Amino acid sequence: MANNTQDRSAPIVGVLALQGDFAHHEEALAACGLRTRQLRTAGQLGDVDALVLPGGESTTMLKLLEVEKLWDPLGEALQSGIPIMATCAGLILLSQHVESPSQKSYGVLPLTVVRNGYGRQYHSGTFDLASDVLPKGTTGTFIRAPRITALHGEVEVLARRSGDPVLVRRGQVLAACFHPELTIGHPVTAMFAQMIRARPAAIDYVGASQ
Ligand code: GLN
Repeated sequence: MANNTQDRSAPIVGVLALQGDFAHHEEALAACGLRTRQLRTAGQLGDVDALVLPGGESTTMLKLLEVEKLWDPLGEALQSGIPIMATCAGLILLSQHVESPSQKSYGVLPLTVVRNGYGRQYHSGTFDLASDVLPKGTTGTFIRAPRITALHGEVEVLARRSGDPVLVRRGQVLAACFHPELTIGHPVTAMFAQMIRARPAAIDYVGASQ
């Protein structure tokens, strides 16, 4: 749960906790030595070093973002340059175009995504990933997963499933159609932890003498 490591200097990852799979993300991040904070209000966004948008139901998340008046504050945090990991419904929220049906999104990632694009529950499961950057044999668990059907701009494809992009990166934003958080020590969570640690630490003000 929140602040789940003894290391008080460890970066804090804010995990959007309105709905969905946030608890597993917290466990997986803690296993990488990171602190976590559940995000439900704008005030909690303040000093986080990184952000996670978990899987769940993107339509429900959209409604709760409105209800909690979090849409705009989260949008600002998404543009602040801190490392972000989005999985499944989180990836849907960050996409430029959402289909089946279309819905509001932040447009951080220049791609088109089709909700439940691999079929519904029946077609969920764990699949091999083809990747030059992940260790050989890395798999991804897909649950009513979004399918990326088009890339519109600069997005690095880091892994594919049967030819489709399923792990993408744009700058400090890493997004997966699957659920790395279900496996403690999954290479995608490790990659995100490395992105966070690679960022230069903010300096502390020493304070002016007058
Ligand atoms: N099908 C969900 C949606 O459309 C995403 C599923 C998930 O996050 N595992 O939002």
